[in-house]
Order: sequence, then C-alpha cells, then structure tokens
Amino acid sequence: MSAPDVAALERKLLAGDRAALARAITLVESKREDRRAAARTLLDSVLPRTGGAVRIGVTGVPGVGKSTLIDQLGSMLTARGHRLAVLAVDPSSTRTGGSILGDKTRMARLAVDPNAFIRPSPSSGTLGGVAAKTRETMLLCEAAGFDVLLVETVGVGQSETAVSDLTDFFLVLMLPGAGDELQGIKKGVLELADMIAVNKAEGDNAARARAAASEYRTALSILAPASSLWTPPVITVSGLTGAGLDDLWAKVLDHRARHEAKGLLAERRRAQDVKWMWAMIEERLRARLTRDAQTRALLARLEAGVAAGETSPTAAAEEVATTLGL
Ligand code: GDP
Repeated sequence: MSAPDVAALERKLLAGDRAALARAITLVESKREDRRAAARTLLDSVLPRTGGAVRIGVTGVPGVGKSTLIDQLGSMLTARGHRLAVLAVDPSSTRTGGSILGDKTRMARLAVDPNAFIRPSPSSGTLGGVAAKTRETMLLCEAAGFDVLLVETVGVGQSETAVSDLTDFFLVLMLPGAGDELQGIKKGVLELADMIAVNKAEGDNAARARAAASEYRTALSILAPASSLWTPPVITVSGLTGAGLDDLWAKVLDHRARHEAKGLLAERRRAQDVKWMWAMIEERLRARLTRDAQTRALLARLEAGVAAGETSPTAAAEEVATTLGL
C-alpha cells in the first residue's frame, strides 16, 4: 500500500469508518512485509489517538456463556452511547485455521449494531504472534473511536495471561454448581482475575450460583494478593436475562476510577508495553533464526540430535550461537 493510500486510510479510520478499520486490521495481520510496513506507519501515526478505551479481558470455559454475555452487555453499553469492539485471542485457531471466538453469529444483536465492531481472532501464528496482532488491533479500534474493548479468550493454556497483559481489567466467568471442585480452573487464572462472575444465575440456578460465588470468594481470599486498593469481587450474573450486568459494569468503572486516581492504570499499561516490547523482540529473533535455509537446516539437524539423545541442549545452543556470531 502506497503512502497516499495509508494517509487516506488513516483519515477514514480516525473518522470512525468501520470498513476502514477492518482494512487497517487486515494490514496489521498481513504476512506481506510491505503491508506490515504500511501497518507500522499507520500505527505510528495514530498512536496519539489511542489509549482512550476501557480494555476488558473476558475468559471462561466453552459454554460458560461468554458470547451471550458479551452480546447482552455490549448492547447495554451501545444503548448508553458507547462504541464497543469485541476481539478474540484464540490460540487454537492457529491449528484449526478458524476461530470459534469473535464469531458474529454468536452475537446476534451486536452483529447488527452500528456501534459495535466484532473481529475474530487472527488465525495464524504463535500465541505470542496472535496476541501481538490483537494488541495492534486494539490500538486501531481506539483510534477509530471505540471506547470499550472486550477481548475474549477460552480458558485454555497461556492465552489468559496474554489477554490479561492486553487489558486493564480481567473478568473470569464461571458456571454455577461446579464451584466445589473449582471446575478444574487453574489457580493461575484466579490469580489474574480482577473479578469473577458466576454466570447463568437465573431461575433455579440462582441459589446454586450464589453458593458457587461464596466458594470462589473463599478461594480468592486465599489465592489473590491482598491489596488495599482492590479486592476482586465475586458476583452473580445472567448473560441471558441481563441480571447483574449493571453491577458488573459499575465494578469495572469503580476499579478504573480507583486505579486511575493513583496513577496505577497508566503504570499497568506501561508495564504491559515493556512486556510487549520484549515479546515482539523475541518474535523477531525467532523469525530471524528461521529466515535462511542454512540456519533452518542446522536447527533441524541439532533438534534431531537433541531428540535422539546424541547432542546435549547446551552444545546445540552453543553451535547455533557460534554460527550466528552471537
Ligand atoms: P460461550 O461458549 O462461552 O461463548 O457460551 P455461549 O454464550 O455460546 O453459551 C453456551 C450455552 O449456554 C448456550 O446454549 C446459551 O444459550 C447458554 N447460556 C448462555 N448464557 C446463559 C445464561 O445466562 N443463562 C442460561 N440459563 N443459559 C445461558
């Protein structure tokens, strides 16, 4: 994309044009170096217009009700005048080539809402690569005037950490009734949580949801680091009926106000930026390693040697370092 094209795209993006936003994200996700370069130019240029959104991460096992809740909460927020973008970080999409997250058909109301923008997970690359692209996509959404960003991920692997590193507030959704065994949720996820919402808390489920909430409260009081500023609340909600979503949003805003007042929101984002810098350097170094055929062949040979127990990892690493002049 030539320079005048990038300038035109930027103008439309800053005017809030959703088609321009979609095109800009396609540039960010492109594997072609010239398009990546155009994306970098665009990102650099819109940077002063970014950072304005409330960035929220949402996780939970498949079936917990993420898309239903996001559809309901998102519609509530756009009715209040917000502009909302829903993005996804789905590491499994790198294997399946498709994403079950951020699928428009799962969010029927938002899909037709002019003040909502839904984008599925980038579908190739490592988790680090997918998350890095999502980070840039978030900046583009902010430049386009979206003031609430929801980034969803499934409760598998390292993706929760990646999403928590992209957001100001990390929301963990749980199911009622399975609280006694903590639903096999890893301790690590609870430690990331800024709030737990036990979902599907309506009708016959309401009492079970309250019981589960009380168990999570106990678990959090043991696991979560004590902070005078914020104790992660455990609430019950129903994405289906909308019950509790007002409270959920009020808590997000309360968390934000408290952290902003102490300068901690800016601090969290700066620490995230430093982490992302290193993640991107590592990604580039890795790409550099496999760029030429000779190094790829060497790596393959050494890896086979290590796998066969014939070469030690140290010797292999040393040989790579020497070959690359490190
Ligand atoms: P996701 O996989 O986490 O995105 O979950 P979905 O939003 O697709 O919901 C999974 C299933 O749970 C669907 O059959 C929904 O209709 C149902 N569901 C979602 N939210 C609620 C809720 O608040 N209450 C009840 N009873 N069912 C819900």
